[in-house]
Amino acid sequence: MRNVALLGPPGAGKGTIAARVAAELHLLHLSTGDVLRDEVARGTELGHLAQGFMERGELVPDHVVLAMVRERVEGREGVLLDGFPRTLAQAEGLAQFLPLHAVVYLAVSKDEVVRRLGNRRVCASCGAVYNLVTQPPKAGGRCDRCGEKLAQRPDDAADVVARRYEVYERDSRPLVEHYAQQGKLITVDGARSPDVVASDVIEALRP
Ligand code: ADP
Ligand code: ZN
Repeated sequence: MRNVALLGPPGAGKGTIAARVAAELHLLHLSTGDVLRDEVARGTELGHLAQGFMERGELVPDHVVLAMVRERVEGREGVLLDGFPRTLAQAEGLAQFLPLHAVVYLAVSKDEVVRRLGNRRVCASCGAVYNLVTQPPKAGGRCDRCGEKLAQRPDDAADVVARRYEVYERDSRPLVEHYAQQGKLITVDGARSPDVVASDVIEALRP
């Protein structure tokens, strides 16, 4: 079994693609964004610590995220990391407790991610994700699965998206070169439909 990380700008589709790839290849899907949002929703100590950073579009401090990931994956095999590592320090920390075999980079332009995040709506109740343009809910503004009212993720507001993208360029993009140098990088064009992107990723990772 192999350990894989998914890299790409906010809005690249990491969550959607990771869920499909993990199901198909029987990997354990760990989304640091989802874990952090859950901690915030439950009002835990970690959630309180993380909330302000997330609302501003900043990264949660490396040592916090590293501890959170370590606790969940140390010693496991067949892990798919989604949204982690996001800094060189996280990559170096991770290498101390989990070897990565491949890193998939979902390449998507800034214009495309700004468009996608502006149109994203989520169901706070069941976690379903929609896009007003490409995957609209059937009944205006309500979740297809559970009927709850859909909302915009607070960090999908335009000014926060702009900040997230800047932080991505500054802190996370250097990881592309970092993993390319290690010969682990697989670049996939993420500006296509989720079906096509997911099947490309699955093909690239299949043993
Ligand atoms: P996106 O990839 O679209 O920005 P995520 O759901 O992955 O969205 O992450 C949402 C927020 O959670 C980030 O903006 C950041 O504040 C925090 N976060 C998630 N993963 C990490 C990480 N590896 N390191 C630091 N902060 C993180
Ligand atoms: Zn729902």
